[in-house]
Amino acid sequence: MALIVKKFGGSSVATPEKIMAVARRVLQEKKPDDKIVVVVSAMGDTTDDLISLAKAVTDQPVAREMDMLLATGEQVSIALLAMAFTKLGHAAVSMTGFQAGITTNEVFNKARITGIDPAKVITELNAGKIVVIAGFQGLTKAGDITTLGRGGSDTTAVAVAAGLKADHCEIYTDVDGIYSTDPRIVPTARRMKEITHNEMLEMARLGAGVMHPRSVELGKHYGMPIHVRSTFTNESGTFIREEYTMEEKEFVIRGVTHDTNVAKIAVLGVPDRPGIAYKIFSTLADANVDVDMIVQSVRVMDKHIIDMVFTIAQGDVSQARLILEKLAEEMEFSGLLIDENVAKVSVVGAGMLGNPGIAAATFGALADAGINIAVISTSEISISCLIEEDKAKQAVNAIHARFFPA
Ligand code: ADP
Ligand code: ASP
Ligand code: MG
Repeated sequence: MALIVKKFGGSSVATPEKIMAVARRVLQEKKPDDKIVVVVSAMGDTTDDLISLAKAVTDQPVAREMDMLLATGEQVSIALLAMAFTKLGHAAVSMTGFQAGITTNEVFNKARITGIDPAKVITELNAGKIVVIAGFQGLTKAGDITTLGRGGSDTTAVAVAAGLKADHCEIYTDVDGIYSTDPRIVPTARRMKEITHNEMLEMARLGAGVMHPRSVELGKHYGMPIHVRSTFTNESGTFIREEYTMEEKEFVIRGVTHDTNVAKIAVLGVPDRPGIAYKIFSTLADANVDVDMIVQSVRVMDKHIIDMVFTIAQGDVSQARLILEKLAEEMEFSGLLIDENVAKVSVVGAGMLGNPGIAAATFGALADAGINIAVISTSEISISCLIEEDKAKQAVNAIHARFFPA
């Protein structure tokens, strides 16, 4: 007997026919005693369509109401999938995030799961049913519906798998595993048999949209292996696990990623006093605006003035603009520039530790492609460069070709 959590993404359940196909596949793979939980996303482009609906009403939707709206997408797909199982002769029951016992913090639109009480799920599994859970959503302690950020159904799946102490967590999607870069951008990208939680977490954080970053973080924290595979083929896919078991650890670089959901903010002409960085970044943090790459530069001609450049997610731009415009007077800065036409390209690999040639090779690939770098940042296992947005795909191709020659 095994307890397995399987997650199917939006393109896997885009039509009623695809929903039936998912139900058939789950039943074919199920051994008689297996207990199965299925987590699903909203059908196809439903979430994008709901966002457009909100935008047709207002430029600045209230965050709580946005989550109330977005959470409806998954409620449609869970009900249809449970109906499909029943039609095929297997008992099934659908549950919203709340019914599945998923509690989150109060940060609407990008909430974090804070707890899972799987009692109702366990009762239904013990009654022999397949339990179909809505991805991407939860409930705050105060009883408000929240969503987990775009792509958040992966996180629901891994959290539920950890909460139930499942044997496996399987993520079914429209690609047959994790590749060295997005195979839609670089057709020669290489599929990996396995990748560590640490490297996948870094790739996801830096824009590899195939996994929601928080799902990999939870997988790492709970030691839960995650198996990423295709909904539409039987390819063996990729295992995300704690350590390598095969020869793949030999690779210095594991992946190249890009993220266009980035905005560059320049706060110009700030009088150089202690506490400046603290004031700017603590005010942004209080409003839950995540800051990423940060550069502070002193002006050569006037040592008492600094410029501060940093990046945030595009979704946080309007809030950050309001906050910084308010701070401008108090902190006496002379200018505020916001540029949304930027992208971050990154290389990721645990093997780059102590291997200085990697940074040089990355910058060299961009230089040869004539792409200018605005900001550079590094972690122990990644190097990121901020560039112009319309050069992102060219940059990914150039860097990928440098590290993964055909
Ligand atoms: P789902 O709806 O199943 O959650 P997503 O669209 O969120 O699917 O994620 C799958 C997509 O991720 C793929 O179609 C692919 O274009 C993209 N992707 C980005 N980086 C990678 C990568 N390194 N490996 C595989 N797919 C990637
Ligand atoms: N439906 C949500 C989205 O489109 C969550 C998900 O697909 O994981 O972002
Ligand atoms: Mg996804």
